[in-house]
Amino acid sequence: MDVLQIRNKKISVIGAARSGIGVSKLLNHSGAHVFVSDTQNASKLEKSIADLRAEKIEFETGQHTERIFDCSLIVLSPGVPSDTPVVLEAKKRGITIVSELEVASWFCKAPIVAITGSNGKTTTTTLVGRIFGDAKKKHVVAGNIGEAFSNFVLDVAEADVVVLEVSSFQLDCIDTFRPKVSAILNITRNHMDRYEDSMEKYAASKARIFENQLAGDTLIYNADDEWSRKEIKSAKCTMISFSTQRKLSEGAFVEDGILKTIIDNKRSDVIDVPLVSIQGEHNLQNAMAATLAAQLMGISPAHIRSTLKNFKGVEHRQEFVRELNGIKYVNDSKATTVEAVRRALGAFSDPIVLILGGKDKGNDYSQIFDTVKKKVRAIVAIGHSAEKIVSNFSDKVRVERVDTIGTEMPNNASMEKTIAVATSLAQRGDVVLLSPACTSFDWFTDFEERGRIFKSIVHKLDSQ
Ligand code: ADP
Repeated sequence: MDVLQIRNKKISVIGAARSGIGVSKLLNHSGAHVFVSDTQNASKLEKSIADLRAEKIEFETGQHTERIFDCSLIVLSPGVPSDTPVVLEAKKRGITIVSELEVASWFCKAPIVAITGSNGKTTTTTLVGRIFGDAKKKHVVAGNIGEAFSNFVLDVAEADVVVLEVSSFQLDCIDTFRPKVSAILNITRNHMDRYEDSMEKYAASKARIFENQLAGDTLIYNADDEWSRKEIKSAKCTMISFSTQRKLSEGAFVEDGILKTIIDNKRSDVIDVPLVSIQGEHNLQNAMAATLAAQLMGISPAHIRSTLKNFKGVEHRQEFVRELNGIKYVNDSKATTVEAVRRALGAFSDPIVLILGGKDKGNDYSQIFDTVKKKVRAIVAIGHSAEKIVSNFSDKVRVERVDTIGTEMPNNASMEKTIAVATSLAQRGDVVLLSPACTSFDWFTDFEERGRIFKSIVHKLDSQ
C-alpha cells in the first residue's frame, strides 16, 4: 500500500503487545483512525494502555467486539493464530489482513536484510548487526528481536541498512514486503500447533520471505538443509547458499579449514574456522549466512573477520555460566525446539546432564534419541511435559522427574530443585545443560526469565 493512502483510513490492530503498540503509533502518526483490540484483561496490559492513552488511540480490552470489523485494514499481531474466530470472520468479510512487519516496510526507505529460519535467527541477526556496527555502517536491528520495526522506521535514512529478524507468523501476513537480502537459515519442525501439523504449510510460510524479491535482490539459503533446498525453487531473485558440508562454486563454504566465500566469481578467504568465536556447526552456519549478508551489503571480509573473532554470541543461547567442582553449567534457555536441543547436544564433547521440559509445543523427541543415548548421562524432566519426557526417555537414560513446587510465578523454588537434582547426577567433567525443548510458560513469563533465574541460582551454588 502507498503510505499516502493511510491518511484517514480506519485500521484495526489486533493484539496490544510490543509490535501492536508500535504499529498503532506509526499508523496514528500517519493520520489513520486506529482502533486496537486485545482479549487480555486491562490489568495485564497496563503499559500498553498507558502508551495508547498517551497517543489518544482508541482501544478495547478483555474481548473483541464488532467494532474491529469497521475498518478497511487489519494489522494482526504475530501472537494471534490465523484460525482465531476473529481472523476468520475478518477474512469472510473481505478485510485485508497484514502483519506489523508489512506495515512498517511501507515506510522504510533503507534496504532491508531479513533473516528467518527455525533456529539461529537471533544469533545471526545480532551478528549481522554487529558486523555493520564494527564496520561503522549505519544500521538498525529490529523485528522479532528487541524493538518492533515500527518504532523507528521513520528515523531510518536511505543510506542506512535495516536488519530484521523475521518469524513465520509475521511472514504469514505480508503482501509487498521485499527485502534487498533475505536469508533462510534452516527449516525444521517447529510451531506445528500453528500450522495444522503440516511441515509443508510451515515451510511455505518461511518461503514467503522471498516472494516479492526480484532481480537485483538476493536470497541466501542453507544448501545443507533439505526443506530450504526444496522451498527456494520458486525464487525469482538471485540465490546464493552456504554449506558446512561441501565446497560450493558460489556462496560460503569451508576449504582447508578456512571459511571462504565466492560471490560474483570473486573469492575471499574470510577467516580460519577455529578463530570463529561462536562454537558448533550450527553457529558456523550462522556465521556463514551473516558473512554472505554483510558482503552482499558491501562490507569487506577484513571487517567481517574481526567481528567473527570477537562476537561472543547471545544471552541464553548455549551461554556458559560457570564451572563449579569440575561441572560446567550452560544456559540454553532459548532452546525451545527439539532441533535446538539436538544442536546443543552436538556442541559438547563431555557427558551431559540435560534439563528438559516446560510447556510442550507438540514435540517429537525421536530425532534426539540416538544423540541422547550417546551423550547424555541423565535427564532431569521438568514442568508440564515431565511425564511425556519420562515416557520418551526412561528406557534410554536415567531420568529424574522434578514436579512443580507450588503455583508461584516465577517459580524459583522449582528451578532450585531442578538444579540441585542435576548437580547431584553430574560428575566432574560433565556439563549441566538447560536446553529444555519447550517454552517456559508453566514456570516463567518467558525464556529470558527462565535463563536469568537459572543463572542466578547457579551463581549462588556453593563450591565443595
Ligand atoms: P531463534 O531466534 O531462531 O530462536 P537463536 O539464535 O535464538 O534462534 O537460537 C535458538 C536456539 O537454537 C539456541 O539454543 C541455539 O543454540 C540454537 N541454534 C542457533 N543457531 C542454530 C542453527 N543455525 N541451527 C540449529 N540450532 C541453532
